[in-house]
Amino acid sequence: MPLVAVIPEPNAPVEVREVAEPDLEPNSALLEVEVSEVCGTDVYLQQGRLAGVPYPLVPGHVSVGRLQKIRGELLDVEGKHFNEGDRITFLDVHRTCNACWYCLVAKAGTRCPQRKVYGITYGLDDGLCGGWSTHIYLKPGTRCIKLNADPETFMAGGCALPTSLHAVERGDIKIGDTVLVLGSGPVGINAVVLALMRGALRVLCIGAPQARLAAALAAGADAVLNIETHDESQRLEWVLEKTAGRGADVTIEATGAPDAVVQAMTFTRDAGTVVVVGQYTDHGSTSFNPHLDLNKKHLDVRGCWGSEFSHFYRAAQIVAHRSEAWSRMRLDEYRLDEANKALSDVATGRVLKALIRPS
Ligand SMILES: [Zn+2]
Ligand SMILES: [Zn+2]
Repeated sequence: MPLVAVIPEPNAPVEVREVAEPDLEPNSALLEVEVSEVCGTDVYLQQGRLAGVPYPLVPGHVSVGRLQKIRGELLDVEGKHFNEGDRITFLDVHRTCNACWYCLVAKAGTRCPQRKVYGITYGLDDGLCGGWSTHIYLKPGTRCIKLNADPETFMAGGCALPTSLHAVERGDIKIGDTVLVLGSGPVGINAVVLALMRGALRVLCIGAPQARLAAALAAGADAVLNIETHDESQRLEWVLEKTAGRGADVTIEATGAPDAVVQAMTFTRDAGTVVVVGQYTDHGSTSFNPHLDLNKKHLDVRGCWGSEFSHFYRAAQIVAHRSEAWSRMRLDEYRLDEANKALSDVATGRVLKALIRPS
């Protein structure tokens, strides 16, 4: 019988439960989970801070495992068959319809109203749809990718990797740019790596705590600054000093703090670009001066919501072919019955990347 770690309702501790093995519909599969993860979003899910989440919920949106059973056909994006025993990962976003106005006219699949996300908007009542589980039911139409990397190396990037890949793409970084990353959590660290791959000459990172800033340096950041010991004006001074008084060419906000969005605008040069990716959860409002912070600066400020198959696919390819940055990242592993500890360690920033190993 599959075992799951479930959030019964908002603010309740995670419980381990035994659930029935699902009946497989045609062209679906059962995945035996090797590793899943705990990210900032899971902390907010436990606190009930995301809208439209069906509890009880089995979290864990990005996972790696082996196909234990396939019913019917399961094909990859190149039309090749998956076989039982294959090691795969899969896009957590399911049911993007390719038929609605957002999919077809705006070409913005992450805003498709039909989309569902494993471990976030699919609850336990929808089946075995989260990675904090010995097994995941891969519904028909789930986009799987054969994984040619170590599971741990791929999961060192985890959900943060496609998210930051999308953010870097939205930032339209040019060769030789100086990029500023606000936030040194998993999305921030992955943004450092990918901004350099995209052609940034230097990446600056402002965040906390010190261990995460050390991880940003290890990932290739040129210089880091601790927000716990530097106030906003000191941070601005630091950025200006490193950019000939102009500010960063591109700033990626990956913090979760609304005020950081305004700081991102302030720290960016005139006619530069700001990408906001750290506000996946509603943390409230902030205010800014439209004349000084935006219009007169001629800034390009872009939101970045979720990720699509293209980001996820490229993330898997990058880790398979250029694994160095991720194979060096520090991981902490937890069993299903340690999920509450994993959540608190992620919430306090004590660990950089927490993995769940269900068996
Ligand atoms: Zn996540
Ligand atoms: Zn759609």
